[in-house]
Order: sequence, then C-alpha cells, then structure tokens
Amino acid sequence: MILRLWPGTSEARAAAISEMLEVEGVRTSRSPELNRPIIATLDKVDASLVRRIEELAELESIVHPEGEWRRVDRSFRDGPSVISLGGVPVGGGSVVVIAGPCSVENAKQLDEAARCAQRAGAHVLRGGAFKPRTSPYAFQGLGREGLFLLREAGLRFGMPIISEIMDAGHLSAFLDHDVDCLQIGARNMQNFTLLKTVATARRPVLLKRGLSATIKEWLQSAEYLAAHGCDDVILCERGIRTFEPATRNTLDLTVLPLLQQWSHLPIMVDPSHAAGIPGLIPPLARAALAAGADGLAVEVHASPEDAKSDGGQALLPGELAGLVADARVYAAVGGRHLAEQLVQPAQQS
Ligand code: PEP
Ligand code: MN
Repeated sequence: MILRLWPGTSEARAAAISEMLEVEGVRTSRSPELNRPIIATLDKVDASLVRRIEELAELESIVHPEGEWRRVDRSFRDGPSVISLGGVPVGGGSVVVIAGPCSVENAKQLDEAARCAQRAGAHVLRGGAFKPRTSPYAFQGLGREGLFLLREAGLRFGMPIISEIMDAGHLSAFLDHDVDCLQIGARNMQNFTLLKTVATARRPVLLKRGLSATIKEWLQSAEYLAAHGCDDVILCERGIRTFEPATRNTLDLTVLPLLQQWSHLPIMVDPSHAAGIPGLIPPLARAALAAGADGLAVEVHASPEDAKSDGGQALLPGELAGLVADARVYAAVGGRHLAEQLVQPAQQS
C-alpha cells in the first residue's frame, strides 16, 4: 500500500510513521516527492497495523496499486515524472523523438544517420552496438567500437545517445563511453539480473516492453529498476506478439491511457519495431502521439538496402523529417509540445 500524508506534514512525523511500520517488520520506501511525504510499504501489513495507520491524523489517503509495484505507481508521485534524457526533458508535456540506425555499422553510415536525425529535428541519437539477433550468423553489432562511434557522433551533432545493453558485464563499456540512456530491449525486459545491475548505473533507462509481456509484468520490471536505485525509467511500447502476421508485431496503444492511470513514468512508442514496414510508421507515430505518448523511437538509414539489420523497416531521411514535423502538430493534441533540441541544426557546422 501507499500512504499519502497531507502536504505540510513535517519530516519528523513522516520519519516516525516509517519507523512505526519498520518496527513491526514492514519495510518502507519514501517517495522523492518534495511537496508531501509519501510512504510505500514493501511487506504485507496486517489488519491491526492498518487500523493504526488509518487513525493517523497525517494520513490523507491509502492507495492500493493495481499490481505488486510501489515506486512506479501513479500515487507515489503527485504528477507525471519528467526525466532528463541527457538534458532533454521527457514527460510532463515534453515530447521527444529518438532516431538513428538500428545498428551502428561504420563511421560513415552513422554520420549520415546522425546528421539527418539532427536536421529532421530529432532530439536523441540511437544506435545498437550489442545487437540481439535471432540468428547467430546475423550481424551482432560492433560492440565497444560501436559505442565509441555513437559517442563521437553524439558529440558532433549535439545529441544525447542511447544504446541497448544486453549483458551486465558490458556496463562499464557503456559508462566509459558516457552513454546517456541505457536501453533494455524487449528480449531482456525480464532479465532481472541485468535490470538490477543496470539500475546501479544511475542513468536513465528506456525499458522496452517484452515480446509477450503483459502490462503488469512490464511495470514489475520497471519496479525492479526503481527498487535498485534507478528512478529514471522511461517505458517504451514496441509492439507485442499476436496472431497477426501481416505486421512484425501489433502496436498496443491501449497501454498509453492505461499506464497513465497506473504509473507516473513517461511512455514512449517505437512504431518501427511494431510495424516493421516503413509506410506504416508515420500513421502509427501520429496515433501514438494523439493517444498521449511522451515520445517516439524510430529507425532511420540513408541507404536501407545496405543496412546490416532492420533495413526493411528503416525510414529514409526525408521520411524522418516528415515524421518529426507531424510530431510537432500531434504533440499539441492534448496541450503538449515537442521538446527543444539541445543544439539547433542551424548551429551545426
Ligand atoms: C532495437 O531497438 O534495436 C531493438 C532490438 O528493439 P526491441 O528490443 O524492441 O526488439
Ligand atoms: Mn532494430
């Protein structure tokens, strides 16, 4: 349960209430919310203790989350979380576009993709260096070299960078290359060892929804990150497995209004991996923003036919520019806005 104390409750009283629970063997966690104390109980609270809590003058309300999560529950904060993705705010009305190639392939390919992403108005540069490929014979990514190239391109174009981490043993490489946001891919959403280790990096995490994960399982994984020190979790819907083979996955936009009720975390949508077909990506992106997405993650390649992974779903540079222009319009639906780029294209040499 989550105990929301009245705004203005003193720190000393909040600490005393936490202590009252702890001595009864109930672990607690305090929200970072500054406007009022909010306390989550992490263990079962027996009925007699519930009655003592209900009698507290400081108690505004008790909330029972829909699932076993606490820290990521909507009631653990007073409003939606705004997460700084390398300086670009995500959530709370600020809409962000992540763009870049599926994989970092070489310096020239990444330079072209980064240039077009930045010119198109995207905020964050993506690129896989450690790739989760279905076939062991498919391109597995450049590894550390890929992170190096991504870091260089990010600096050159003034964009924060994001890349997928597949193995806890690679974390030091991500930190060495100052990767601004760590992506947990769909295939690792329930790799709890990886989640625990990544959480210790104190970097924002983009947590993609598992291939067949329920919404509750997905939020439980976000809770793992939060429980191990990472409050800056951005959820990313990327389509789920259904009976429908006409598209790569089925984009589940239901999660947007539902998770806005259940969680304070921002939610982005990746229409590229959902659709798997370039022509479907712009309309799905518009639909996602109209339904409340806090941003988009899309793949782009200057010559998709040469791509070493996911070329069949890559947007061309001009298509990406159209998508970002649409994003500006559709973000305004519901009174939101496209975030400012850290560096404007005009400032770029
Ligand atoms: C990716 O973003 O490159 C990727 C592999 O995505 P997902 O984990 O959603 O399949
Ligand atoms: Mn991909």
